[in-house]
Amino acid sequence: MSEVMVDVHGVHKSFGPQQVLRGVDLRVRAGEVTVVLGPSGSGKSTLLRAINHLEKVDSGWIGVDGELIGYRRSGDRLYELKEKEVLRQRTGIGFVFQNFRLFPHLTVLENLVEAPVSALRRPRGQAEESARRLLDRVGLADRADAFPRQLSGGQQQRVAIARALALEPKVLLFDEPTSALDPELVGEVLDVIKDLAGTGTTMIVVTHEIGFAREVADTVVFLDGGVVVEQGPPEAVLDAPRHARTRAFLSKVL
Ligand code: ADP
Ligand code: MG
Repeated sequence: MSEVMVDVHGVHKSFGPQQVLRGVDLRVRAGEVTVVLGPSGSGKSTLLRAINHLEKVDSGWIGVDGELIGYRRSGDRLYELKEKEVLRQRTGIGFVFQNFRLFPHLTVLENLVEAPVSALRRPRGQAEESARRLLDRVGLADRADAFPRQLSGGQQQRVAIARALALEPKVLLFDEPTSALDPELVGEVLDVIKDLAGTGTTMIVVTHEIGFAREVADTVVFLDGGVVVEQGPPEAVLDAPRHARTRAFLSKVL
């Protein structure tokens, strides 16, 4: 068995009186793909944001590659990390958003080069070279000098994936990466994610694409009401769900 790359342990998170995560446990092994399913409002985005420490958790803890996220432990107490340390941790955790969030004023190539140069202090030439390799990998080698607005949604999302990879993250988090796309553009983005899965990239993918989950996921997690209701290999969770809530959800999305 490979090592645990992402370890989510008893995580609770409320917004005011609303409990959004109510004791989430999740383990993702290095090189594995976990697909998170769940109805709107079940806490999927909050969970991903917590892994990246974009949300602070109220209790529980999250580890990535053996390192506590957002805190350091001293004896049996946790101390919050300084912003600079959090930013360093975040460079190891790639995030792909529903709406791409590319820098509109930068070219495709510059979008990929910016963070490695500013956050990792890579020499620009070296960053450009690896950016071009990544663009080739997502099928956009010929669009390096385009601006995001000149690309289709599917192309923009492929650039966003390449940009996340440019920091050589330990894990990639995808929050509904195809939900904002026209149906005919969904496939090209899923193909890129599938390709990454084949090369052993550790990923957590929130999506409603059940076919993709069936084909690519090592583990499918069904989140509802801020708890993991059910998890297991796709053939178990998707084809023989044990919980009525999972069955009810699947009957709506399949
Ligand atoms: P999902 O991604 O599964 O649709 P979210 O994690 O986005 O669910 O949200 C879960 C619940 O938490 C929703 O009811 C949402 O309104 C609420 N929520 C999320 N973020 C915030 C926030 N920053 N402030 C207040 N409520 C929030
Ligand atoms: Mg969401």
